[in-house]
Amino acid sequence: MLAVARVLTLSDLLDAPQTQWRYGPLLPLESRHSGRDWPVGWTPLIEARALAAELGVRRLRLKDESRNFTGSFKDRASALAVVRAADAGAGAVACASLGNAAVSMAAFAAAAGIPAYVFVPGSTRDGRLARALACGARVFRVDGTYQQAWDLCTQACERFGWYNRCCAYNPYLVEGKKTGGMELAEQGYADPPDWVAVSVGDGCTVAGIAKGLRQMRELEIIDWSPRLLGVQAASVAPIAAAFSTGIMEPLSPAGNATFAHSINVPAPRNWRKAVAAVRRSEGGFVTVTDDQIARALSLTARLTGVFAEPAAAASVAGIARAVSDGIIDRRASVVACITGGGLADLGGPQDRPEQPGQIAPDIDALAAALGQETA
Ligand SMILES: *Cc1c(COP(=O)(O)O)cnc(C)c1O
Repeated sequence: MLAVARVLTLSDLLDAPQTQWRYGPLLPLESRHSGRDWPVGWTPLIEARALAAELGVRRLRLKDESRNFTGSFKDRASALAVVRAADAGAGAVACASLGNAAVSMAAFAAAAGIPAYVFVPGSTRDGRLARALACGARVFRVDGTYQQAWDLCTQACERFGWYNRCCAYNPYLVEGKKTGGMELAEQGYADPPDWVAVSVGDGCTVAGIAKGLRQMRELEIIDWSPRLLGVQAASVAPIAAAFSTGIMEPLSPAGNATFAHSINVPAPRNWRKAVAAVRRSEGGFVTVTDDQIARALSLTARLTGVFAEPAAAASVAGIARAVSDGIIDRRASVVACITGGGLADLGGPQDRPEQPGQIAPDIDALAAALGQETA
């Protein structure tokens, strides 16, 4: 504990860059690493009063990862992985992804000038890949599931010597992801949250946030720790089930799917760490239906202006569920991690709660459409 306390103090952080590199002494990187100018992390914590009232909690803040470099929490891990690859002289980087990891790895690979190879499951929509393609990544749509894409990517890295950025394979990703928890510690410093809600697919995000919070406590920068609420989609919830049974029973991908693509992981690899992190925090798991996710997405946008992708809106839906189940107390102060922005996931069923109105370029027509008296 004291060994850690010497490497970073609150006063060091006052002068530190407003990026995740502020935690440099605690990251597995040289101090003059090649990514130090990349604007990753230090995303805002946004007060959401009207949404708090709607969900029935005393206070709600949104950790808005849609403001990250490519619009998702994955940037934290991708940036760190690509820096390590670049500084080690890797010839290429690769990952399997449901979309966000691919886009963020491709963007940082472009910044570093390294070729990127991306493997996505066959069902991935084109819109989720647009930025990866624009950044010059070689994208392979694997005729199969995410698990099969992951296996192919990992074999390819072995055969061709590429640097592997696969979640639950690369041990450094959690070091990038922990910066999200470290930021929550600093940003919640004056008024600590009781709960932090995080949506869960493979389980790496919630485990990373937990690790960051724990390190900030070990550093004695904070003396509190929030309880973690893991949220899964009801139709793909093997980790929520393992949380109560202690046993992982992977689902078959056939017949088990959610429109929240980024958490559509029927056979998660990192479930033990996710379960352990939530247990240690004295937290809980809930599941939410796709309808509840769609409603949370719309409510969040209408009441805060923040546009979440479905997987991210699941955290908000999970808070509502946890309040009604009596897991979260109505007097609680809660943070919802908006792990990814909605622009990454256009083209799904959630996008058009209303169609734009068609109108002639004429003020009287507009007034009529608005149902007002024309002058
Ligand atoms: C990846 C992702 C998650 C879940 O993270 P896991 O590490 O798979 O649990 C949640 N939301 C978004 C937007 C993501 O991209």
